[in-house]
Amino acid sequence: MKEKGILIVVSGFSGSGKGTLMKELLTRYPQTYALSISATTRAPREGEMDGREYFFVSKDDFEKMIAKGELIEYAKYVENYYGTPREYVEKMMEEGRDVILEIEIQGALNVKKLFPDTLLLFVTPPGADELKRRLVGRGTETMDVIESRMKRACEEAQGMENYDYLIVNDDLDECVRQMHAVIQGEHLRSSRNREFIEEIREDLERLKGEE
Ligand code: ADP
Ligand code: 5GP
Repeated sequence: MKEKGILIVVSGFSGSGKGTLMKELLTRYPQTYALSISATTRAPREGEMDGREYFFVSKDDFEKMIAKGELIEYAKYVENYYGTPREYVEKMMEEGRDVILEIEIQGALNVKKLFPDTLLLFVTPPGADELKRRLVGRGTETMDVIESRMKRACEEAQGMENYDYLIVNDDLDECVRQMHAVIQGEHLRSSRNREFIEEIREDLERLKGEE
């Protein structure tokens, strides 16, 4: 049987480049990773498609999903709800894919509580000025919304130490390589390879007995 995939949470300030990074990682390693698609009550941005970036749902439908237990976690972020549908995540992990949840910090901590061996990665730009430049440069939000997101970034910065690794997104190519390396390294953790350890111990005992 194929080894079960790892659950990975990627958080980071809005505008730090998470979306860009995820797209690149999935293009390079389409068989290794699966990106969970969240449900949200926020309106689609130009170019976003229902079922691709998000499942865009009404507040009513979102509340029904919560009531039916269809979400692993959910959180409110700057006036809108965001949540992770359970079914896809569980299926992909069973199939051996490493599943990435690109979610904000409250959701990240809730997932960690539910699944303690989740790998938590925090993506940051090299500096605060660069964050604002990227948010403005993306051109998808009004200045008001950008200000709210910059304020939210101040709050999120207080929780950075809760993450296992900081991924600095300066050069995109280098950043993708680093993220892949960190995740691959995580597979080698001894606590994730208990079965292998048991097996080799038994085999060693058996060989010793045959001498
Ligand atoms: P997030 O998903 O974290 O909100 P995005 O992926 O939308 O962020 O990126 C925000 C903006 O920054 C986009 O315009 C994107 O093209 C740009 N960007 C992303 N990564 C880099 C990078 N390494 N260097 C310069 N600009 C970047
Ligand atoms: P955006 O509106 O820029 O797409 O996302 C806003 C924030 O919501 C980002 O920090 C993003 O990571 C987070 N987010 C997206 N989906 C989910 C989710 O399913 N759960 C939680 N908790 N946060 C999410």
